Amino acid sequence: MVSFQDLDLSNPLRNAIEELELVNPTPIQQQAFPVVRSGKDMVGIAQTGTGKTFAYLLPILRDLKFSKQQHPRVLILVPTRELVVQVVDEIEKLAKYITLRVIGVYGGVNLNRHKEAVAQGSDVLVATPGRLYDLALSNVLKLKSIQKLVIDEVDVMLDLGFRFQLLNIFDLLPQRRQNIMFSATMTADVEALIDDYFIAPKKIAIAVSGTPLENIDQTAYNVPNFYTKMNLLNDLLFDKSEFSKVLVFAPNKRNADRIFNLIEEEFPGQVCVIHSNKTQNYRLRSIEEFNNGNHRILIATDVIARGLDLHEISHVVNFNPTQYPENYMHRIGRTGRAEKKGKSILFATEKEQEAKKSIEELMNFEIPMVDIPERVEISKQLTEEERPKEDRQQSANRTSQEYVPGEAFHEKKAKNKKVNLGGSYRREITKKYKKPKTRGDKNFNKRNKKRK
Ligand code: AMP
Repeated sequence: MVSFQDLDLSNPLRNAIEELELVNPTPIQQQAFPVVRSGKDMVGIAQTGTGKTFAYLLPILRDLKFSKQQHPRVLILVPTRELVVQVVDEIEKLAKYITLRVIGVYGGVNLNRHKEAVAQGSDVLVATPGRLYDLALSNVLKLKSIQKLVIDEVDVMLDLGFRFQLLNIFDLLPQRRQNIMFSATMTADVEALIDDYFIAPKKIAIAVSGTPLENIDQTAYNVPNFYTKMNLLNDLLFDKSEFSKVLVFAPNKRNADRIFNLIEEEFPGQVCVIHSNKTQNYRLRSIEEFNNGNHRILIATDVIARGLDLHEISHVVNFNPTQYPENYMHRIGRTGRAEKKGKSILFATEKEQEAKKSIEELMNFEIPMVDIPERVEISKQLTEEERPKEDRQQSANRTSQEYVPGEAFHEKKAKNKKVNLGGSYRREITKKYKKPKTRGDKNFNKRNKKRK
């Protein structure tokens, strides 16, 4: 096993590590150390608890020379004030025997106080993006001396809508700098940011620790579209004793809300939802209601569910296969903990088969397939995103999010002609208003009445 003695640490760092009673560097610490020291751009995929903070701090502090210069050389951006405080605290622990000036700044505190602190001079600045930008604009802080930029929890940062703040900050930084980035999950947004601003980054991914796959019963269904997935999910959820605590992963915030509304119609008072557009209070309440058993169903997006302490989940339902296979492992790892067998269910459309295959390749395991029960209605209704592109353009001015496809181009055999359009009520409404009623929009009829 690798010990901290094997890393080329300086004596002051080694002493600090010894005082913290740390013996073995974690995998991300071992792997990141030489990469960060090499000066190359780096992307680390690692969750909280893997030791990622020391993974970037150790090599950075190892090579940071004493200096009296006023402006900082290392900038660490994190999404929340709590994280600023935590990272400053970790730096202070490691730098116990090093002369180092570190400052933490975040929003919600008087800006002048931070201006005064920054004016004293610093080596390492830990900041939330908004406050950092305010300070940089005020000219007390010059960012042209930054040599190393660390962005921690990038996925959370982008999910909270900090993308433009980050880009504004990049504009103020020198072109020649080292970028070091950490994210618990890989998302399309994170990937786009890396592609645009990083130069051939070295990627370090840490295998998901925790639940062994043998503890999780995995099954998968081939399902044609969103609304059939909804029908199937509701059908499964009817079995309350089997589906006693269910975490449903939605592909994005919009679908999370959509799924929530549709389950709420079927199972009022049994479901809650969390994603980053919900307030902190709402999220905390949802998690509490789920953990204490008041609600048996929780809908969540990947980013927000990360790091949540959720207890005794009976089933993880993946409404879609994840775009990045690692994220599927994060998801299903939420069940099957503490010696108990957990269950994971995956829904995948035709288009999503490839993503499902990548997941199976990563696990080296083919997920057993189950047939959709006959009683579950196969819906023909498509969501906005599922509709063919031309139809979407034609109806750009329509407010409806729903679509019922017209006749197929080819003639069907007589026995196949009968299609289930999903409920006579909706068809009646469609005929009456010439466009489908927005399902889940309870005010639709009210609004129409008022207009008359
Ligand atoms: P992080 O993933 O950076 O949030 O760190 C999680 C926790 O692990 C922190 O409380 C660290 O102090 C601790 N930690 C960091 N490195 C090690 C290590 N090599 N051995 C044991 N604990 C560690």
